[in-house]
Amino acid sequence: MTGTVLRGCHVLTMNPRADEYPDGYVAVGGNRITEIGEGPVPDHLGAARVVDASGCLVTPGLVNTHDHLYQWATRGRAVDSGLFGWLTELYPVWARIDEPVVRAAATGALAWLARTGCTSTMDHHYVFPADGGDVLGATIEAAAAVGLRFHPTRGSMDLGESAGGLPPDDVVEDIDAIMTATQAAIERFHDPSPESMLRLGVAPCSPFSVTRDLLTESAALARGAGIRLHTHLAETADEDDYCREHFGCTPAEYLDSLDWLGDDVWLAHAVHLDDPAVARIAATGTGVAHCPTSNARLGAGICRTRALLDAGARVGLGVDGAASNESRSLRGEVSAATAFARATGGAGAMSVRDAVGLATIGGARVLGRDAEIGSLEPGKLADLALWRLDTLPHAGIADPVAALVLGPPPPLELLLVNGEVVVERDRVVTVDERQVADAARRASESLAG
Ligand SMILES: [Zn+2]
Repeated sequence: MTGTVLRGCHVLTMNPRADEYPDGYVAVGGNRITEIGEGPVPDHLGAARVVDASGCLVTPGLVNTHDHLYQWATRGRAVDSGLFGWLTELYPVWARIDEPVVRAAATGALAWLARTGCTSTMDHHYVFPADGGDVLGATIEAAAAVGLRFHPTRGSMDLGESAGGLPPDDVVEDIDAIMTATQAAIERFHDPSPESMLRLGVAPCSPFSVTRDLLTESAALARGAGIRLHTHLAETADEDDYCREHFGCTPAEYLDSLDWLGDDVWLAHAVHLDDPAVARIAATGTGVAHCPTSNARLGAGICRTRALLDAGARVGLGVDGAASNESRSLRGEVSAATAFARATGGAGAMSVRDAVGLATIGGARVLGRDAEIGSLEPGKLADLALWRLDTLPHAGIADPVAALVLGPPPPLELLLVNGEVVVERDRVVTVDERQVADAARRASESLAG
């Protein structure tokens, strides 16, 4: 969309000055934002295509910092279980995934993410059946088809049940095979350029499914390649018990002892943190992916977002896999993060603008992309979401940011990723939604039984 101006909309920039323009414009040229301001479109932009965006709110595109795309094919299972019971029921199903299933699931998951305002997403893929084909490559093809900025991670599990881990032995891999495959994936896929649409990360799954050696070797490999590290941490009280029993310390102390806290690391969940862990995560620059709906669905608890933010930690939001969050709305996570923080910490614990900040510039910081995305500023990449707020569900809500965060899900008028249209008037335009839905249903049915 070269030379386009959105005019007449409320602009929420999320820039360092927290600028907001109630009747503003945003100009896009190529894949960059070129100008932003209040009032009528300046004359020198007159040659551009002008889009009437009145009645709409424009925000930076939302950034999803934790997900498992393949789980779109295993929704609606173990619906009343906690994490360990849910995992134990799902591991054998996940052992049957393969490249076509993952391609169909990931395409559906990504298309729906786009419909909920997401322009950049990570993926944490850690199930690699021996005869499953190129499942990581399938997720990358899906992201390219839908058109989202993608941060896939090569995940892994090497601690099976017979060695004291939670997953059955047939869904874990050998550590040497993992390291070889991870190195190959970095060489094949990782693009470190500033405008990158694809950056790879390394992501051993969790303390109860990977060995100490895998954590250590993964960190060395990632740091040698200059890419980021990710894992699940402190999700449930059960995990806290597991770590105390097996390692004699808390999950955060365990990771710290392995040099796994730092500004190149981000952690999913981080629900069960004591005060020293909050301080240590902030001091080391470690990022946190807060996944409120998944944490509630599995009864895991509520992340201490206010304490983390007050300590100076980088915090983003994540939908998590669809098997523990069937709704998978990234805008919905903004609402949930607001509600959860206030329910536990009072009305002052999370403003509606701070909540949008978690999903935008906060997520960009967690992924190490805040110089390029996460706010609407001239020179940044053109990743933005235009929300319609003048129809029945939102008409008359005095504050448009409150309408987005506290109101019903708004229609998504336009979603631009890298300057390209991905969603227009609540429809994904890059893929055929009906075909994607049919393929996802068939993938899910193929795993039944
Ligand atoms: Zn997860």
